[in-house]
This record gives sequence, C-alpha cells and structure tokens, in this order.
Amino acid sequence: IPPLARMDPGGNVRVVVRVRAFLPREIKRNAQCLISMDPDTEKTTLMVPNDTTDSTNARARARKVTEEKSFTFDKSFWSHNPSDPHYAHQEDVYDSLGEEFLDHNFEGYHTCIFAYGQTGSGKSYTMMGTDDQPGLIPRTCQDLFERIHEAKAELPNISYNVRVSYFEVYNEHVRDLLVSPTSSSTSVTSPNYLKIRESPTEGPYVKDLTECPVHNLDEILRLMRAGDRNRTVASTKMNDTSSRSHAVFTIMLKQILHDIESDQTTERSSRIRLVDLAGSERAKSTEATGARLREGSNINKSLTTLGRVIAALADPKKTNRAGTSVVPYRDSILTWLLKDSLGGNSKTAMIACIAPSDYEETLSTLRYADQTK
Ligand code: ADP
Repeated sequence: IPPLARMDPGGNVRVVVRVRAFLPREIKRNAQCLISMDPDTEKTTLMVPNDTTDSTNARARARKVTEEKSFTFDKSFWSHNPSDPHYAHQEDVYDSLGEEFLDHNFEGYHTCIFAYGQTGSGKSYTMMGTDDQPGLIPRTCQDLFERIHEAKAELPNISYNVRVSYFEVYNEHVRDLLVSPTSSSTSVTSPNYLKIRESPTEGPYVKDLTECPVHNLDEILRLMRAGDRNRTVASTKMNDTSSRSHAVFTIMLKQILHDIESDQTTERSSRIRLVDLAGSERAKSTEATGARLREGSNINKSLTTLGRVIAALADPKKTNRAGTSVVPYRDSILTWLLKDSLGGNSKTAMIACIAPSDYEETLSTLRYADQTK
C-alpha cells in the first residue's frame, strides 16, 4: 500500500466544464451553438445569442446582452461535435479525471465527483452514460476491479473489501435506492425516508442505509442499475422526475495488507462518491408555490450550500488547520452527509454540464462553477 501523504492544501478542488451535442429537438429548430472552448487555454466562452427565431434565448435577447462571457476552468470538455479532433469522449473524461481520482482512493483518500447543470445538460450521461457509452460510474467500477485483480496477482497477502450504497436526497430527505420502492413506501403521505445520525468517530451517516458487499464488476453494475431503476420508479410514483433529487453513489474500498514476517495487518479505507445533482434550474423557484416552493427552495439550499462549501474548500484562507469550522456543511443535508468526502484530505471535482444553446441557464451554471474555483 503506498504511503499516506498529506495532499496539497488548496489543490484538492477541481472544476471542469463539459458541453454536450445538440439534441434532435435543437437540430430541428436550427439552434445556434453559443459555446466555444479553447483547448490550449481551457477557456470556455459563452457567445451572445443572435438567432431571433430561437425562443430559448428570448429572455437573453430581451435583456439585450451584448457581451460574450469567458471563464477558465481546470479543464473544458468539448463534447459537442464528434467529428471535431478535440471532441471529448466518455473515455477522455474518465482518463483525465476518474482515473486520477481512483489513484487517490487507492492511496487512502476519499473523493467526490459532482455533476452540476440544468436538466438535459448531460449530467446522467456523464456520470452513468449509456450501455454503449458508459460514463464515470461504470468506468470507475471497471477500473477498480481491474486494479484489485492486478494487485492480488502481484501481492498474495493483500485483500480487498468493497461495499456499495446508493441513495438520493430529495427535498432534504434521504431515500435508499438499493431498496425497491413498494407502493406504500413511496406514497407522498408515508415516504420511506431514512434518518440521519451522527457518530463521534465517523461523523454524519444515514441510519439503516443498505451497504452491499460486492466481489466483482457484474455485481456492482447490477446494483448500480437496480438503484437507477428504483430512482426512476420512485420518482414516477410520486409524479415527479429524478431531476429534482441528488443521487449519491458510494463505493467503500478497504485494502487489507497482511505482513507475513511481522504478522501485522494494515488497513486503509476510502470512500468514492459519485453524485448526479438535481437540475440546477430548480434552484430558481420564483414561479413555484406551496409544496413546489418548499421543494424548490430545498433544492436551492443543497445546491447553494454545496457551492459555498466547495468555494470555501478551494480557498485555503477559509479553512483552518484543525478542520473546517467556517465551511457551512451543516446548512444542507447533502453537504452534511458528504462532509467526510469534502475537505480534509479528500479530493473534490465539480463537472459543470452545459447545453450548447441556452444562454441564461448556461451563464448561471458557468457562474456557479466559477464561484467554486
Ligand atoms: P441530465 O442528466 O443533465 O438531465 P442527460 O444526461 O439525460 O441530462 O442528457 C440529456 C440528453 O443528452 C440525453 O439524451 C443524453 O444521451 C444526451 N447527451 C448528454 N451529453 C451528451 C454527450 N456528451 N454526447 C452525446 N449525447 C449526450
């Protein structure tokens, strides 16, 4: 097991951006691509919409925006036009982010990767992907078991313990995605929400959350798919869409090294969090009323708190040595539960997913990502 070194403070937050291809409906209305990315500088530019026939950008035109906006992130993934030489495939996103994060996990650190963006911007595609184009989660699982296999072949006295959990945070409540939703458990009147507890040693955790031991890639992928199905079923039953919940896929990795000579056992544990956030358009709840308003403001709370937490972590002046008293973890359920994976010795990445032709939503996503740098 490689030695545990303290990571570069302030270098533990990565912010990247990814723009997706046009969808059929955008091609149909002849949408204008408002994004350009410079592969040399990683600069992403949002251009002024000038197509007066595209109603998506009517508001931006009414506001008479004239200036293009540029942002520079750690990496910009151009996934707009597959024939472009700079096109970023699913594999490229994994190679430049997922693989390195898995290195950290094997070194004993926690990691957390978030996908942020409006509904339809490519968050699920980036995290989960499709059968043909697997995203970060299945690629991480595959790489994890390949590495375990290789390490075991090299070191007969090493063993691994891998467990997985999958939950969603909806309206500041936690739902277990590895438990199949029954008709009663997902009704609006008696939702099957889990309680949050705090342990003095482990910090905040979800009480009674299913944690499944997994031994190979097939097992973990089966749970991933089952959890995804449960998310869809539960949200459909509640006359809802998954775009309103934050889905947190967690892999717990324990490495156990038995030194035969000294008969000593060394253990190292790390947590891999992969999070598909609720659609960021939900954060603006001006038109919502009643239940929708509460839900909107709760989603708002998780997303704005997450932004503040990551921004605080990225700014070493705001985090003190002993820990993180100025980091507002407690202000939302999502950040509270992910406390162990945010800050301290963990690595965090935010993938800002953007649609190519929606000025207002894209600007809001780029600004959100920019404030977390
Ligand atoms: P979100 O999870 O943000 O709501 P999705 O991941 O469901 O958005 O993406 C919306 C649609 O765009 C889906 O049909 C998805 O397959 C497609 N899509 C997203 N990103 C890409 C990409 N990089 N390349 C090709 N298609 C994409």
